[in-house]
Amino acid sequence: MTYTITLIPGDGIGSEVTTATRRVIDATGVSINWEVCEAGAAVFKKGQATGVPQETIDSIMRNKIALKGPLESPVGFGEKSANVTLRKLFECYGNIRPIREIPGVKTPYQGRNIDFVIVRENLEDLYAGIEHMQTPGVAQCLKLISRKGCEKIIRLAFEFARAEGRKTVTCATKANIMKLSEGLMKHTFEEIAKEYSDIQADHIIVDNAAHQLVKKPEQFDVIVTTNMNGDILSDLGSALIGGLGFAPGANIGDDYAIFEAVHGSAPKYAGKNNINPTAVLMSGVMMLRHLGEFEAANAIEQSLYVTLDVDGIQTRDTKGDTNAVSTTAFADALISNLGKSHPTCFPRTYNPLILPKVSKDPAFVKVKKRQVNGLDIFFETSDVIANIGVTLKKAIEQTPVTLKMISSRGVKLYPGTNPTNDVVDMITVRFTVSNTDHDLTDAEITDIIAKISPHYRWNHIEKLNLFDDKPGYTKSHGED
Ligand code: NAP
Repeated sequence: MTYTITLIPGDGIGSEVTTATRRVIDATGVSINWEVCEAGAAVFKKGQATGVPQETIDSIMRNKIALKGPLESPVGFGEKSANVTLRKLFECYGNIRPIREIPGVKTPYQGRNIDFVIVRENLEDLYAGIEHMQTPGVAQCLKLISRKGCEKIIRLAFEFARAEGRKTVTCATKANIMKLSEGLMKHTFEEIAKEYSDIQADHIIVDNAAHQLVKKPEQFDVIVTTNMNGDILSDLGSALIGGLGFAPGANIGDDYAIFEAVHGSAPKYAGKNNINPTAVLMSGVMMLRHLGEFEAANAIEQSLYVTLDVDGIQTRDTKGDTNAVSTTAFADALISNLGKSHPTCFPRTYNPLILPKVSKDPAFVKVKKRQVNGLDIFFETSDVIANIGVTLKKAIEQTPVTLKMISSRGVKLYPGTNPTNDVVDMITVRFTVSNTDHDLTDAEITDIIAKISPHYRWNHIEKLNLFDDKPGYTKSHGED
């Protein structure tokens, strides 16, 4: 059969690494009709703000599978990353990033059998990209984590462990600090793990995960984690096995899959024909396994091991400037080694990945009881904190709430004083209901706003929800 697959060469080194990959995959005899599509820098330059033209979207919609080179994103300004846009448009919620020692690639970890996989949530967290300047000098980025998103990625991690015959899934979170958002990942993990009693489930705080990855990486099997944690840990992981040139990835969703390396467009190497195409090639290998083409996938993997280890043919990143071959020559060697087997490194047993089925209901978690028992209102003001307290207390005298405390950047400043805090011009005022059973109505909230807004400029409001009597908010540091 012939597969039709969308191929996005990408920016910078993209066309060099995808050309090499395409040549090697074609040489296996798997018949692929590559539909070459644009995305990234060239599209931004044409004035299209998403960086992804409609023809590319249509192509992926039709083909369901894409192999993608890296796309450049402006750093610290400009339009959203086209990479992230593609993952989001096609609901590719799982980012699978294997980190496996590669024979012949010299690293300080050689011989320690590093072989783990990072399963990174791909759509939520800080990468939801919901950012607002609260004041001219204070930026806010929402860390959005849903129970549904956690459940999907955690089930995917366990299913992935089963497909690859792995023994342990470790959940890495920062739930000690972000108790509701990262905590949701941890709690969901603990619940779902009970359904996978054949697999050991552990939790680790993500900073220690980074430490342990450098100290004893061979202890890890599958790591499941939130988006930003996973992004950082996987770059770290790639350095353990020889660098970003060796780290492949797959973006997996229920209906679409986009295969791409962990690395970016490495602009300083663009056009030099000296970059390592292994990461994109191995992403192509993951794609072949996704298609059920296990034989071709194993053949490429074996040819890679023979080329790197038996023949010692490597690119600049691991061989240095004098002994390295070009990207093109590396691909030539891979093609000529197809059909050969490495003497000691064999393919692991891969079984088809069973994608988890998770309810699509947007109201994924239902509660029996809910109550709004207060408000956090965020103000832009440089007034003295004690003045704000006195003014607002007076303003809300005739309302169902009282002023509980004032904080700035999550630290309580009032009542009481803390002269050591360097306050910024965004402060949070927490109002709670005077009668603890009272459920604040929207009309009452509107009235409170009307009473306070003549005094200070407010920016946004968070309702303090109790869901089934459990607070849906956390305390500030120093709050009773
Ligand atoms: P990068 O492109 O990943 O490159 C960082 C460094 O990693 C390179 O300077 C090089 O290290 C090494 N490297 C990357 N790819 C390599 C390869 N194939 N072979 C050998 N070494 C490789 O990261 P960046 O410079 O931070 O980002 C550049 C652009 O890429 C940015 O616009 C960024 O937004 C974008 N980006 C895109 C993706 C994606 O498409 N999914 C991912 C990450 C970043 P040495 O300097 O040590 O040789």
